[in-house]
Amino acid sequence: MDLIAVTDLKQWVYCPRIVYYHRVMPAVGKPTFKMREAIAAQELIEGLEMRRCLKEYGFENARRRFNVWLSDEILSLSGKADLVLEAAEEIAVVDFKLTSGEPGENQRTQLAGYSLLAEKAYGLPARRAFLYRIPDNRVFAVEITVKLRDAVRAAVEGIRALERTEWMPAATPVRARCTECEFANYCADVW
Ligand code: SF4
Repeated sequence: MDLIAVTDLKQWVYCPRIVYYHRVMPAVGKPTFKMREAIAAQELIEGLEMRRCLKEYGFENARRRFNVWLSDEILSLSGKADLVLEAAEEIAVVDFKLTSGEPGENQRTQLAGYSLLAEKAYGLPARRAFLYRIPDNRVFAVEITVKLRDAVRAAVEGIRALERTEWMPAATPVRARCTECEFANYCADVW
């Protein structure tokens, strides 16, 4: 069985039907421009806010590993973390975000997914993760709580059930999300 992409955890919380299209009907949908790959993450981390934040949380001297592939069969997850900070007794994942707004539940769940994978890979606890909002160089610290960890496991179970049954989940009740969705043409019931 293939592993679930950590990015699908984010989509699962945002609109589970997107995950249905990704995993059950992978041929549909328009490819989106991957701006993330153009991000010069090394430059961003030298920014004032990021340095300040790393110091505040004790990661100023942490080893920095960019674009780290992580996977684990037991978690059933895999994905590429933008940045992993490896300190002496703790590890933290940093995700770079191109859009505005506060980190939502979907982004927190994704960060928790990367954090669980990083814990397994490095054998260190991940108590928090960071989201770096690129447009205004703002850093958000996200505590990796028991609730978020449970949300990751629930999402994995939900996605596996979706694959088994090929059941199409209900559309997101937040219909504003449909306007720019790459699968808008396939969700006739939302219009
Ligand atoms: S169009 Fe709306 S309901 Fe359909 S997948 Fe996209 S966000 Fe979900």
